[in-house]
Amino acid sequence: MTKTLPVLSNATLSELTELMHSWDQPAFRARQIYRQLYVNLVDDPDAMTDLPLALRQRLATEARIDSLRLERLQTADDGMTRKALFALPGNAVVETVLMIYPDRATVCISTQAGCAMGCVFCATGKLGLLRNLSSGEIVEQALWAAREVRKVAAEQGGGREAAPAHQITNVVFMGMGEPFANYDRWWAAVERLHDPQGFNLGARHMTVSTVGLVPGIRRLAQEQLPINLAVSLHAPDDALRSALMPVNRRYPLAELLAATRDYIARTRRRVSFEYVLLQGRNDSPEQAQQLAALLRQDAPARQPLLYHVNLIPWNPIPGTPLGRSERKRVLAFQQVLQDQHIPCTVRVERGVEIAAACGQLIGSHQREHAHVRV
Ligand code: SF4
Repeated sequence: MTKTLPVLSNATLSELTELMHSWDQPAFRARQIYRQLYVNLVDDPDAMTDLPLALRQRLATEARIDSLRLERLQTADDGMTRKALFALPGNAVVETVLMIYPDRATVCISTQAGCAMGCVFCATGKLGLLRNLSSGEIVEQALWAAREVRKVAAEQGGGREAAPAHQITNVVFMGMGEPFANYDRWWAAVERLHDPQGFNLGARHMTVSTVGLVPGIRRLAQEQLPINLAVSLHAPDDALRSALMPVNRRYPLAELLAATRDYIARTRRRVSFEYVLLQGRNDSPEQAQQLAALLRQDAPARQPLLYHVNLIPWNPIPGTPLGRSERKRVLAFQQVLQDQHIPCTVRVERGVEIAAACGQLIGSHQREHAHVRV
């Protein structure tokens, strides 16, 4: 039987220290390895040149640094948008999208392979849930992105009017899966990415997006790290929301907004509402009015509104009758909200030609590789 090797990306610093202890190594070796992984972004024990050769060899044979295998990389926007398809142990695949700008670099990370939530407009929802990712598999996506950013900055920095960012500035958990359905592992990944001794990403530079799992929102409100919360709304009434997002039958709008209100009261943090615009389904001016009324009812007149609405032009996926809202309808929807003094932006699109919305690359991968079970 094959022995399961410890995967270093799954370990906290204290777990690495325990591993070193079991190998009769001093604790400072764990700190060296941790630094190599999360600061120097090393993914090969041979490159950990501050370790003795014997320890590097043992790491190479008796542990694994990571679990993800890069299956495919697609680029767009002159190489500044990069979408990776990773194979996981057990044959599932996940996607990670990196967007590099002159002043920032954002990576969109998956927390599950597939998703059980079944939103009708989402390519990932059509896959169903395959499995939860481990904390290491979540963290590794950020480490991959950080290596890519460094590489791009080194290769292209000199030749551009505005040099690209040279490190990850934002992590958004908006890729495949529902983070709150894999809460413990996802949160372990958040803590590891935040760890000042390692990757050292500020909590305010991380955002989690939920389909609206109320227990997750309530749990997040109790956490010490102030990461940002985005809630997927996508409809201004229960009937439509239930048709688009089956989760609404379990946590209808009133319950979801009550949890969001409590979250704001406890944390004093602003919440974003995500709203995918679908032609003729949820994008009329009347529905914008309904949405405004829904959000306004939640905020007493003199209280500043700690909400923000992010309108998302939908990326069409094959096999659905849904359509993408025309630009003029998107802008009209935005105007209604702004007239009601609700902060509202339209998400800038990146990577449309490489199917950058979550689950889309897997869809095309499946069509090309029918033997891959996803
Ligand atoms: S939109 Fe998010 S929660 Fe809904 S099916 Fe897709 S991945 Fe799951």
